[in-house]
Amino acid sequence: MLSFEHFYSTLPEPLWIESQATPVAHPELIAFNAPLAQMLGAKEVPESATLAQWFSGNQPMPGAKPGALGYAGHQFGNFVPQLGDGRALLLGEVVDKNGVRRDVQLKGSGRTPFSRGGDGRSPLGPVLREYLVSEFMAAMSVPTTRALAAVASGERVARQMSEPGAVFTRVASSHIRVGTFQFAASRRDGAVIKALADHVIARHYPDAASAEDPYLALLEAVVARQALLIARWMSVGFIHGVMNTDNCSIAGETIDYGPCAFMEQFDPQKVYSSIDQGRRYAFANQPAIAQWNLARFAETLLPLMNEQGDALVEQATAALRHFDTLFQQEQRRLDADKLGLSPESEQAVPLMKGLESHMHQGRMDMTATFDALTRYACSLSNENREALLALTTQPNELTAWLETWQAEQSASQDSQRLTAMRRANPVIIPRNHRVQEVINAAYDGDFAPFHTLLAVVTKPFDGSVEARRLAAPATENEQVLRTFC
Ligand code: AMP
Ligand code: MG
Ligand code: MG
Repeated sequence: MLSFEHFYSTLPEPLWIESQATPVAHPELIAFNAPLAQMLGAKEVPESATLAQWFSGNQPMPGAKPGALGYAGHQFGNFVPQLGDGRALLLGEVVDKNGVRRDVQLKGSGRTPFSRGGDGRSPLGPVLREYLVSEFMAAMSVPTTRALAAVASGERVARQMSEPGAVFTRVASSHIRVGTFQFAASRRDGAVIKALADHVIARHYPDAASAEDPYLALLEAVVARQALLIARWMSVGFIHGVMNTDNCSIAGETIDYGPCAFMEQFDPQKVYSSIDQGRRYAFANQPAIAQWNLARFAETLLPLMNEQGDALVEQATAALRHFDTLFQQEQRRLDADKLGLSPESEQAVPLMKGLESHMHQGRMDMTATFDALTRYACSLSNENREALLALTTQPNELTAWLETWQAEQSASQDSQRLTAMRRANPVIIPRNHRVQEVINAAYDGDFAPFHTLLAVVTKPFDGSVEARRLAAPATENEQVLRTFC
């Protein structure tokens, strides 16, 4: 079905170690992403039973050459020299219809040489969460890994409780992480880190090859991709939850949807992840953490760069600092879109700061606020204004802000602005309580709610009756404030 190539496997061990999937008892296809398969150039998609065999790892996909990737990483700030794909297998790469090389990886397909104490499996819940959230991010044009398939394993996995198991198939521009560079650097063999860096330049950043210093250019390119990525996360209220260096993609895609969640009631210090006790990965910390991760990346590249001594450090530091400029530029552009303002508006940033402060003080739901503001911008009716003011506990303060916003917004109002505003502000996000509801139903054997939610979050601007029902913020009783990976 897919034409596999194996570029990554030309790299030396242990960046890649051949490994096989361990068959599961009764694979059953839960979901298959036909449009994505088509983009990957799939022809003649076989029937579900065959897909279930392939995407569980029970039968090898023709042309696949499964292997586990080695990587290291800073987890919550502490360096772990060997992590690696403990439960994932790279089947190979496919050059998609746009000429982009993409990894196809099974996750939950059994133990690998990197498994240490782990069972190599995934529970069903996290598989469904990753499917929903990554496909929502793609629909919002946030760079992300994609979901190609989910298969129930027919086996139980032991976590806090016994849970049904599943295998997820992830598609990524690559699975190369900052942690992959840390792993290569820790080999203390200059040839390994150089081979990896050259691979990444050839694959992701070909322009860097002709730069005066290709490795400095590589650092600059990765900094730029991460700055754009984090700005996009912030604009949709995404909280990754576990921004360890092994979850920081060199290609600048969102990767590892573990304890992630979306901001509901706005609070810059928001953390949902149950494992983030120190609140290291709080919403507002994300740009600084990305920079910290990029500094770890820079350290691995220093030995390859042309300059020496102080000049080398100054150059790398300047490359890292550039993150702020790029992040702020992108954030300003996104803020203008979210507020329905012209990209040149000087007011976008101060107005956004003001609204964030109102959302925080007035206990407003972030997505509902921007959706209501978009509807009000499209039709300045009393009804739409009241609907927006009903979201805050401090309507008088918000009314004052609305006047300033309206003055600025009407100056730049045209249909293009309103279209951009709508596209920046989803009607629906995959809310924690809805995702949990879907997982609970699936644990009872009912996958219909999963498919319904998937259909609406992948058309996030639609605003159908079903979408609006599933878009509503959680009531006090429905709230899910803790996420687990
Ligand atoms: P993750 O949370 O997916 O980023 O995983 C962190 C590290 O733990 C990686 O090295 C994974 O390969 C490994 N890991 C996570 N879950 C398992 C599992 N069930 N079996 C083996 N290794 C695992
Ligand atoms: Mg990870
Ligand atoms: Mg994870």
